[in-house]
Amino acid sequence: MIRLFVAIPLPEEIQDRVSALCSGLANVRWVDAENFHITLRFIGEVDESRFEDIDMALSVVRAPAFRLKLSGVDSFGNNNGVRSVWVGIERAPALFHLRDKVESALVRAGVPPETQKFKPHVTLTRSRQRGDARLGEFIARNSLFQAGPFPVTEFTLFSSFLTQSGSIYTPERVYPLEGAEQPYPALQDE
Ligand code: ATP
Ligand code: MG
Repeated sequence: MIRLFVAIPLPEEIQDRVSALCSGLANVRWVDAENFHITLRFIGEVDESRFEDIDMALSVVRAPAFRLKLSGVDSFGNNNGVRSVWVGIERAPALFHLRDKVESALVRAGVPPETQKFKPHVTLTRSRQRGDARLGEFIARNSLFQAGPFPVTEFTLFSSFLTQSGSIYTPERVYPLEGAEQPYPALQDE
């Protein structure tokens, strides 16, 4: 079996901006800067024989390149504890368009449809423990955080190998978006 997900990694300068946020919370595991990404679609464990079908379906996705801006910090979780802290993405219809294209390609490749609403974000921490009392303060302090805009010219099929000390992501395939060869300011804003 191979564990797969489709995502947009962050350019290095944006990684640096985001990793500057990563301190001041206890009982959390900070994501390594080179692992920051926006998940477009979590596929999960599939038989290795499914890989070619998934790759073929993704390689025919046609969607325009676009720009993204990161904005604000928030968390997922409930009263039993915080599951993750993340950086938000500014309104970006082109990102949702790409996600929809990826979704229908995967369904065509036989992947069961996604049932959860798409909430794009960049995860900073994961934890199964009870949250840190300072989380509210952390979120408030970083509420005005912004990074970008940065160009998104491709998307990536990653494999994820789970280990005790965190997951190891490997880019398996990269798919270009349309118009990516245009000069950067010409990339559409939405
Ligand atoms: P760990 O599970 O060890 O904390 P991880 O979450 O980084 O590590 P994966 O579970 O392989 O590694 O997840 C890869 C990406 O897919 C991450 O961005 C994760 O948030 C996202 N993801 C994982 N499970 C789901 C799911 N059920 N629905 C949506 N996204 C998911
Ligand atoms: Mg996980």
